[in-house]
Amino acid sequence: MVEPAAAPGVAAGAGVSAAAAEIAERSAHWTDQGADRLAVLLSADGFAATTGGVFLRDWSEADRRRRAARWWAGLWALGLAFVFVPILHFVVPPALLVAGPLVASRVGAVRRTVFGGIGPCPRCGAAVVVGGGIALDWPVREACGRCYLALEIAPAGRVSV
Ligand SMILES: [Zn+2]
Repeated sequence: MVEPAAAPGVAAGAGVSAAAAEIAERSAHWTDQGADRLAVLLSADGFAATTGGVFLRDWSEADRRRRAARWWAGLWALGLAFVFVPILHFVVPPALLVAGPLVASRVGAVRRTVFGGIGPCPRCGAAVVVGGGIALDWPVREACGRCYLALEIAPAGRVSV
């Protein structure tokens, strides 16, 4: 399921196997959380592109309803719990009463969750991590945390961006 990291070939330091392990570990972690892997290329001028993955989950209509309902129920349950807390019961339950449907509608509108992405740096082979919650506005720009190479990350299967 998780492809081995592409061999960087040049300028590959001792950290490469550690990077491969980190990539495999994070990939497995996101996959366990229900994410699908989108193959991406990490490229930079003058270096051979490497292959990485961005992990995301597209929520179906049913998923979105379920997620919204869970948030709504959770917030109202919390509000109900605060009904019995002196003083706070004037503030928290009404606030959560209002927040429930508002938050639910926002959660329900989310069509895709991006967990994050990872791949080997084309120059030094270190694992480059892209944070979760990013807007997938291809190409995603990121810098290697080790050699500071500026990278562009884009889906491997698509020619246009
Ligand atoms: Zn690097």
